[in-house]
Amino acid sequence: MKDKTILLSFDVEEFDTPLRHRIRLTKDKQLHYGYLGLKNLFDLLQELQHPACTFYTTANFALHYPELICEIAQHHEIASHTFYHSSFKPADILNSKICLEEIINAPIYGFRMPNMKDFDKSLIGEAGYIYDSSINPTYLPGKYNYLAKPTKPYQESNYIEIPTSVVPIVRIPLFWLAFKNFPFNLYLNLCKMTLNRTGLLHIYFHPWEFADLSMFKIPSYIIKPNGQLLVDRLKQFIQYFLSKTDVHFEQTIDYINKNPSSFISKH
Ligand SMILES: [Zn+2]
Repeated sequence: MKDKTILLSFDVEEFDTPLRHRIRLTKDKQLHYGYLGLKNLFDLLQELQHPACTFYTTANFALHYPELICEIAQHHEIASHTFYHSSFKPADILNSKICLEEIINAPIYGFRMPNMKDFDKSLIGEAGYIYDSSINPTYLPGKYNYLAKPTKPYQESNYIEIPTSVVPIVRIPLFWLAFKNFPFNLYLNLCKMTLNRTGLLHIYFHPWEFADLSMFKIPSYIIKPNGQLLVDRLKQFIQYFLSKTDVHFEQTIDYINKNPSSFISKH
């Protein structure tokens, strides 16, 4: 049977979601909740003997917690989630790469823009990244409409785009909000179906989701479940696929290197 790949990814960042809901949270507290959740997540991955993952981190977060990021880098791929989560300037694409490479003392190959926002993609290759992962090929009202984008990985002029997964044809996104809000078995079945049809499942979460967020008055579809409940749900999800002999977890750059000529060209 053909081997199927799961790209499990996490956007390591300042917890700035409360700001969008008119809740004030200092920059230190935003970092702190990101850190608390990342610790919980890292403990889980350690318990599961580190299935390969990719961590897209803001350089700002990594500068505040370099030891934890270096510890993660011993088991997983580190990629860039630009410099700051709440603000962006084009130079941050390159600057975050340089900063992260100094911290982990290893090359950074991948990039993901916060909130999957659109930006000048020519900067990706120019900054020396191999791949971008800033396309969730679906329509999220008020956020983005990437329905015209391919759902499979594709080669652009000077980088490779690795879109996150949607259910084939209907393009239901299999991202963090679906994981939280769909009944567990429905989400699992949609992931299995996608994996069987395409051979690839590429999903993403945020470490802050795994911190205790019960004190925040934020719409529950965004933050519930959180903390240990969500850790347990992710554990159940990962363990299910670890038990399958035809499925494996992989770092994004390893997946790309193993499939060098199989990505469709858009040109
Ligand atoms: Zn983000």
